[in-house]
Amino acid sequence: MPIDATQPYDDQNVFARILRGEIPSRRVYEDDYAVAFHDIAPVAPVHILVVPRGAYVSWDDFSARGSAEEIAGFVRAIGHVAREHELVAPGYRLLANIGGDAGQEVPHLHVHLFGGRPLGPMLA
Ligand code: IMP
Repeated sequence: MPIDATQPYDDQNVFARILRGEIPSRRVYEDDYAVAFHDIAPVAPVHILVVPRGAYVSWDDFSARGSAEEIAGFVRAIGHVAREHELVAPGYRLLANIGGDAGQEVPHLHVHLFGGRPLGPMLA
């Protein structure tokens, strides 16, 4: 069920619980600003989710309320994960769903990192 991206942050969402270590994930990277883990239902050979440690519902929320340090740290973490997985030369895709029309299902900002095969054209 897609979320309403204008809703207040719900600290019981699944990624908040993963960040707190309450439920398991296959972590591939973490630093002061971000945690990255494998998507539970991958749609590409590499399908990693990168989430900020801070409590932000969506990219919109993060861009409005996140500090410059958090935003820079998050963006750097995404780049780091891509380089660690040797995705820069073959190419990869980043995607963030925001709210209902985009089909965002988890109300904690996450960027999908897809790679490991030719990804084809964007559909929207
Ligand atoms: P969204 O549609 O952009 O919100 O994407 C949510 C993503 O989270 C989907 O690709 C799900 O497969 C993924 N997901 C949901 N629960 C978990 C989990 O517990 N671990 C890892 N990925 C999850």
